[in-house]
Amino acid sequence: MQSHPDWTHWITVGRRWQDVRHWWPGDTPWAIAVTAVLTQHTRWERAWQVWQRLVQAGIHTPDRMAAYPESRLAAMLRPVAAARRKARTLRELARQVRDSGGDLCQWVGTSPDRARDRLLRIHGVGPETADAILLYACAIPMVVVDAYTMRILHRHGVLPAASSRIEEVRAQLARSLPRDVAMLRDFHAYMVMIGRTFCHTRHPNCADCPWQAFLPQGQRPVHATQPRTPDHSGATGPVCRISGGRRSGGDSGSGMGIPKRNPCT
Ligand code: SF4
Repeated sequence: MQSHPDWTHWITVGRRWQDVRHWWPGDTPWAIAVTAVLTQHTRWERAWQVWQRLVQAGIHTPDRMAAYPESRLAAMLRPVAAARRKARTLRELARQVRDSGGDLCQWVGTSPDRARDRLLRIHGVGPETADAILLYACAIPMVVVDAYTMRILHRHGVLPAASSRIEEVRAQLARSLPRDVAMLRDFHAYMVMIGRTFCHTRHPNCADCPWQAFLPQGQRPVHATQPRTPDHSGATGPVCRISGGRRSGGDSGSGMGIPKRNPCT
């Protein structure tokens, strides 16, 4: 990493653009952990839809999931990528949590390194998933690095190459970001939202992006030649991952088989 920007400033600008306090929906740490696994290589909306299906079928606790036959669980997960592998991962995670008393966050413990190791020992849980579970489900101050983060940091000259090693980037970010759960949650949420909304792989829309002021000096903002997603700037209500849905204005998940209760709250 070439320099250490003032991440607090990035987050502050993000907060002026969108309120992401309720960005990762889920009533319980277990709901967050399951959706973190389900969304691997899968659109968030689909992962959330499958979680709702599990809730409706009563398979929404570690106890119930551990006892549910793996092949039937895989069939229920089928709309997400790698359903069979994820069924195995979730059952193993559920079994370990159940056997330790049923509380995910008690099972991982409070030591960040030990908690991470514990999750990484579950087949199918990689660094990004483990860090997201610890940060959003158990409020442990972890840095989540994903492809959006790598792309944005590279475009801003923070990383020498988009192909930098994720673990190194994570370690360096951990040294330069505040060890504050709310800040770290927002940092990751903005990386995903700005990545999805503006920082497209081929056509970044820097001209409308809240982070254009952080482009390296002399780098002119780029206008997207093919805008692909709506610009949410100026939005007022909190947003969550589900279709970028806002809490205000009612049902954010309509048309997706998502519950009538607004999950962003
Ligand atoms: S200003 Fe441009 S490069 Fe930076 S995050 Fe926004 S779209 Fe991406």
